[in-house]
Amino acid sequence: MSIPPMTTVLPYPAGRVIPAASSALDIRRIRDDFPILRQKIHGKPLVYLDNAATTQKPNAVLDAIRKYYTADNANIHRAVHQLSERATRDYEAGRLTVQRFLGAAHSREIVFVRGATEGVNLVAASWGRTFLRPGDEIIVSTMEHHSNIVPWQLACEASGARLRVIPINDRGELLLDEYEKLLNDRTRLVAVTHLSNALGTINPVSRIIESAHARGAKVLLDAAQSASHLTIDVQELDCDFLVCSGHKLYGPTGIGVLYGKAELLEAMPPWQGGGDMIHTVSFNRTTYADLPNKFEAGTPDIAGVVGLAAALDYLSSVGIDRAAAHEDMLLAHATRRFEQIAGVRLVGTAEQKAAVLSFVVAEPVMSALDVGTKLDLEGIAVRTGHHCCQPLMDRFGLPGTARASFALYNTLAEVDALADSLTEIVHQATRRTRSLPVEATKEPCPAEMQLCGGTQATCPPHLEIEYAPAVAASPRAAGEELAEVFEFFDDWNDRYQYLIEMGDKLPKMPDAMKTECTRVHGCQSTVYLTARQKPGTADVLEFLADSDADLVRGLIGLLEHLYSGQKAADILAFDIEGYFAKLGLDQHLSMNRRNGLEAMLKRVRQHAAELAG
Ligand code: PLP
Repeated sequence: MSIPPMTTVLPYPAGRVIPAASSALDIRRIRDDFPILRQKIHGKPLVYLDNAATTQKPNAVLDAIRKYYTADNANIHRAVHQLSERATRDYEAGRLTVQRFLGAAHSREIVFVRGATEGVNLVAASWGRTFLRPGDEIIVSTMEHHSNIVPWQLACEASGARLRVIPINDRGELLLDEYEKLLNDRTRLVAVTHLSNALGTINPVSRIIESAHARGAKVLLDAAQSASHLTIDVQELDCDFLVCSGHKLYGPTGIGVLYGKAELLEAMPPWQGGGDMIHTVSFNRTTYADLPNKFEAGTPDIAGVVGLAAALDYLSSVGIDRAAAHEDMLLAHATRRFEQIAGVRLVGTAEQKAAVLSFVVAEPVMSALDVGTKLDLEGIAVRTGHHCCQPLMDRFGLPGTARASFALYNTLAEVDALADSLTEIVHQATRRTRSLPVEATKEPCPAEMQLCGGTQATCPPHLEIEYAPAVAASPRAAGEELAEVFEFFDDWNDRYQYLIEMGDKLPKMPDAMKTECTRVHGCQSTVYLTARQKPGTADVLEFLADSDADLVRGLIGLLEHLYSGQKAADILAFDIEGYFAKLGLDQHLSMNRRNGLEAMLKRVRQHAAELAG
């Protein structure tokens, strides 16, 4: 991103001239403001680089929320007592703070919602219901977060409108010529992200807005990421709607903002009904409150607003331009370091970028899940997966990336820790030779192979493929055997390592079997699983599976150990949840991995149920 000029007039606090961007941040003092950063993870200092998912909270925010609940808590708007007056005053003062932060003309243009997602849903439902007609078009971009895609798909389904998509180039930049071609007289709204959470691309939103307005279309800006990295002035941008989330702005979760131009919000019907959004209610006719209350039904997140206002005060006391200059410096340093790690590929290399570094380990191929897990063992928190941008990942032909994202409290030393750890992880992976699974073909199973298609238990015996054999007389006996082995290990890292090695020794799933129909969805990594009736038996199930993630292969090893080569009825009768609880596995798996394990289990049990008839 471009460094702001020497004197930048920020919209918040109104009219104040912020010092030059070059005046460095006092990082030590800033880090002292964030108590969570002082802890160790796996015995190493926490390096928190998952800021695009959520930022940490300074003492100023924690103190404001505590003060609110200890001194001022009451419901707002409808009481005359002191506490309610104070709570109402704090809540409405928070609205003024947000108004100044975004440079909005009126405080009634600021609607408090739960977050960016709810803001988009509100507009898609209320504005969409009122203004969209069959044949109308809505434009989004390839790099949108699901929360700026799915609400529009729902609005299109309800109205008969059509979704159009702005393509991107290989660097992760919008193809603006293609965008201009998509605009036409049927375009009603353009919904784009200001800053991509998965790539870090800063989109040229002024031009996007200008072009949309020239065709009479409205524009919604998703500022979930940009609000903490870029100075925003909604009047200067002239966007029609804008959404952002408090928790990505150093504020609490559960609170966010929808900005809308007053004349548009006035023309929209309420989204939710309830207390506080009405003027009068009778069974014959209900009239609605003025803006912004019309869109704030029910008791709002008052403490959330208090915390958000404290966060914005904090951010502006640091200076958003100075914070951005610091984050740019971290990003530039990280980019230089990553470019020197052989085998690592950056995903998203736009000329205008901020705060996000997405990458994959391409040589040797490593799943993002494994990279993230190994970094976590070094105390480094990054995010892995599709980042709620599946269409974007499809565009790059990737199941996901690992993503480091920077905030004002991160340091060059932390960037170096990340780069050093990644270098070591890639180095170790290079030494470990293993044939890794190929990318899934999107093709169905080749007809001549007559594979199970993921829905039938049987594959024809003429396929001379080795499946995992039974290791004991029943799943229960296999489970007991494994539980005994586990007792020898001190911790779960060793147990996982044992499972991974066990999985590595099992028969490999041929790449030709890794197709869309053997793919198991619901796992964060790429997983394939196929099963057959064991040749020469009536009721024995054998299966094969593979994944691009070491850890998931370990879990596959566990499932194959328990189930492959066992009678279908025994598989179905085995109390697997009870067994996992006995092992303690249920306590040691992250939610994502548990979901993945459950998806694989479901597939195996489905095969077993088909075989058992
Ligand atoms: N838009 C973008 C670009 C995001 O990065 C996110 C969250 O990661 C969202 C929207 C949704 O934000 P929330 O989950 O806070 O509603």
